[in-house]
Formats: sequence, C-alpha cells, structure tokens
Amino acid sequence: MPQNSQNFQNFIAGEWVAPSTGNYFENRNPADWNDLIGCFPRSGPEDAQRAIASAQRGFAQWSKTPAPLRGAVLQRVGDLLVQKKEAIARAMTREMGKVLAETRGDVQEGIDTAFYAASEGRRLFGRVVPSELRNKWAMTYRRPIGVAGIITPFNFPLAIPTWKMFPALLCGNAVIFKPAEDVPHTGHLLIEVLLEAGLPPEVIQLVHGQGSVVGKAIIDDPAVPVISFTGSTETGSIIGATCGRLHKRLSLEMGGKNAMIVMDDADLDLALDGVLWGAFGTTGQRCTATSRLILHERIHDRFLKMLGDRAGKLRLGSGLDDRTEVGPLIHEEARQKVDEYVGIGKREGASVVIGGAPATGQTLASGWFYQPTVLAGVRAGMRVEQEEIFGPVLSAIKVGSLDEAVRVNNDVQYGLSSSLYTRDVNAAFQAMSDLDNGITYINAPTIGAEAHLPFGGVKQTGNGHREGGWEVYEFYSETKVCYIDYSGHLQRAQIDTYAEGREGDERV
Ligand code: ADP
Repeated sequence: MPQNSQNFQNFIAGEWVAPSTGNYFENRNPADWNDLIGCFPRSGPEDAQRAIASAQRGFAQWSKTPAPLRGAVLQRVGDLLVQKKEAIARAMTREMGKVLAETRGDVQEGIDTAFYAASEGRRLFGRVVPSELRNKWAMTYRRPIGVAGIITPFNFPLAIPTWKMFPALLCGNAVIFKPAEDVPHTGHLLIEVLLEAGLPPEVIQLVHGQGSVVGKAIIDDPAVPVISFTGSTETGSIIGATCGRLHKRLSLEMGGKNAMIVMDDADLDLALDGVLWGAFGTTGQRCTATSRLILHERIHDRFLKMLGDRAGKLRLGSGLDDRTEVGPLIHEEARQKVDEYVGIGKREGASVVIGGAPATGQTLASGWFYQPTVLAGVRAGMRVEQEEIFGPVLSAIKVGSLDEAVRVNNDVQYGLSSSLYTRDVNAAFQAMSDLDNGITYINAPTIGAEAHLPFGGVKQTGNGHREGGWEVYEFYSETKVCYIDYSGHLQRAQIDTYAEGREGDERV
C-alpha cells in the first residue's frame, strides 16, 4: 500500500470496519493516474456474510417502520444530496473521468430518485377488488421481501445505486451494496449521506471488493432473496444462472448496441448535436450510448462530413476542467478494448472518418484517453455493428429506407434504446411501434432517460424488469393478497357463485 494514502473502510453491522483480509486496492484518477484517491478494502466472502447477517437484523426493524416514515428518511437523503451535489460531482469526476456537467447530472438523478421514493412512501398502493362473494373483501398490499443485494457498474456511480437502493429501502428491504471496483469512493460518499439522513445503521451495508469474490458471495447467499445488477451481459449471465438455481428475484440491466436513425427529411443540425452527445457523452461508456448511426443514403455523405468536422474538434481532457467535452476511458483495459475494436472494424472493411487511436497530447499523457472515433462503410452483421464496445466509437451504416433502418436496428442481440430523426409524424409513429427496444426517442439521441419513467431494454439487455418510475416498486416488494369474509358462514369461491348458488341464497 502506498504511503500517506487514505484507507477507506467497509460499513458492516453499523460500523466502519477494515476488511477481514487486511487487503486494500488502489483507486486512481483515470485522467491522471498519478493522482491516488485512496485505498479501498479488498474484502473476502466472510465480510459479505457478516454484512448479510447484520442486514437481516436491519430488515427485521426497517420492514416494520411505516412506509411514510421510510419515505421521510429518503426525503432527507434527497435534501443532503442537494447540499452536497457539487462536492460529490467533483469526487465522481476525479474517480471515473466524465465531465462535471455529467457528474452533476448523475447526482441530480439521485436527488430526483430520492424525492420520487420519498413521495412513494405515502402511496405504495395496493388494490381493493370486488369479491365474487357477498360480505367478503378482497385486497392486495405490498410487503417488503428481505435483504436486497445491489451490484453496480462504474459509469453512473451514484445514479445507478440510487435507482436500486432507494426503491428497495422505501419498500422496507435492507440493502447490501457492492459498488464497482472503479468507483468505490462515490459509493462511500453515498453511504455517508444515507447514515447522516438517519437510516438505521444495520439497514445498509457497504462491502467493497472484487465482483468475483464479494459480488459472488452476495449472489450465492440464500439469505439475500433479491438481487439487482447492472453491468456486462457476461457477468449478468453468470448471476442469472445462480439466481435461477436459488429461485431469487433478479433484475438484470446489461448491454446495448443503440442506434440513431437519421432520415433524409431530418433536421440535420439537430441530429448532429444529438449524435455528438449520444455517442461521445460519458466517453461512450453508457449502456444507452449511441454506437450505431444509421443514415439514409440521400444524406449519408453530407451528414458524415458534418459529423467528422465537429467530432474532430471535441476537446479531450480532465473532466474537472470546464472546457473539457470528452473525458478519459475508465482504465487501461477499456482503452485496449476500444482500440482492438477499431482494428477489427478496419479489418472488416470499415474506414476511419475521424479518430481511431489513443489520444496522447501533453495534458492527456497520463490518462486513458481515446480519440472520438467515427467508422464509415460499416455493414450490418460486422462485429463493430453487433458488439458492445463501450467507448467513443460510432459505426455509420448506410440504408435506403426506413424499413431497412428498422431491420438493421433490430438485428442485434440487444434491445435497450433507439432513436429516429425525422419530420414525418407517420414515420415516427411507425418506427416507435417497430423498433425493438425498451426505449425509443424521436428527434433526440439514444441517451437521456428521466428518473420517473421506467428504464430497461428487451432481448439480451435485460430479463424483463424495469428500473425507475413506478414499475420498480413492484420488483422490490411482494404482492400479498388478503380475503376477509364477514358473512359468518362458509362461502366457497368458484363454487358458491351464480351458476351453482346455495339453495335459498339471495342473488341479484
Ligand atoms: P463492467 O464491464 O461494466 O465493469 P461487470 O459486469 O464486469 O461490468 O461489473 C459490474 C459489477 O458486477 C461490478 O460491481 C463487478 O464487481 C460485479 N461483478 C463482476 N463479476 C461478478 C460476479 N461473478 N458476481 C457478482 N458480481 C460481479
């Protein structure tokens, strides 16, 4: 461990504690690898197990706290996030590289999610349904489930944990949280906020470490009946297999290969702003990033020229510098992977319009920077057209019609988001119904989901659940059905009905 670095701790059983292994890993700024943020616990399975046992005690208490009071805690969480927004955004940019405007947005999403959750504490509606029998009530309500295991990626270090944690907590569950190894500091700051807001300590547990150790220990433990995961499709498949075997409730949010379609009647300047933001925002490291650009043949050459001119002028640098438009990639392997895909694209016959190499200027020399890259001449079926790259690489594909564009969009294993630029309202509505994605944007890029709407994708992107909005509250709670018979005699559902009423029973 380097001298003078701060050792951060896990939060287990109501205390900040060192990992049982005694081991730590370094967390460095991806824009400047000489900048050490701190050292974080490389925990072992025992740490996760102790945290789970504590979370069960937290659950016993929290599940009995009335939902409006749970909501009041989340209201305070939102208030504290408002106060600390700038400090957390700066810490997040330093830790994972995206520009300040984006990390401020990331915190804002957490704020919005907190306030939505707080208000849900006074709803969490069940239903009262007419019974088929007289003098009988039938109703449903939502019960907490238990300990929720929350495993998250690096690209939205605050927002994604809050999407999962806040509804889980509002529904009365306890939480064990394993943040991505690349963003443990933001995870730490979020837990400090929850504790300051008055969340009872054993209701939340933070265990840092590797996915294959700590993440796996959480997934494998039968005492964690609910798992929510965002990350790669490969890891999601491993987690899905275990959860299937153990009959756990599981929400998976995984890869994307999102396309923006630009038709020949589109406002090209609007589409240009959209694709620059969609493809190169967060350095292309969003699950909703625009990684395919499907261009109508009549505007193809003109639009590519406009795009090359603008993409070539994007300013790379530290996200803490206000002038920076594109930050670094998260780490060395990410940059290597991006570079390998550019090589694959070239071998498959694509040409590089702009970019295509690591960026290594003076201020970029000690960061994981990669030039914003546009590949042209990409055809449906090529690997760069099919596989998630998770970096600033955009593949342009030429099509002759909207039908062809929709076919190209749909012919991938993923189905997260899509976008269409057109001025034709009929084409827009046709595309909304035909594009096989969880989210479709019209005249806006493939990124930009709002916290109060359901978020998620079809096909290999997910497993049918949605985060955000009202739907996620169903995921984190069980439906309990109650029948209350106040007739004073035995009434048999499906038997004592109109067709086979009891002798003398008064029917309408
Ligand atoms: P990414 O490529 O976005 O980093 P990963 O799927 O590798 O996506 O990681 C997302 C999260 O899943 C991280 O918190 C990581 O530590 C965790 N993780 C990785 N492998 C496993 C595993 N086998 N079991 C549980 N969690 C895991």
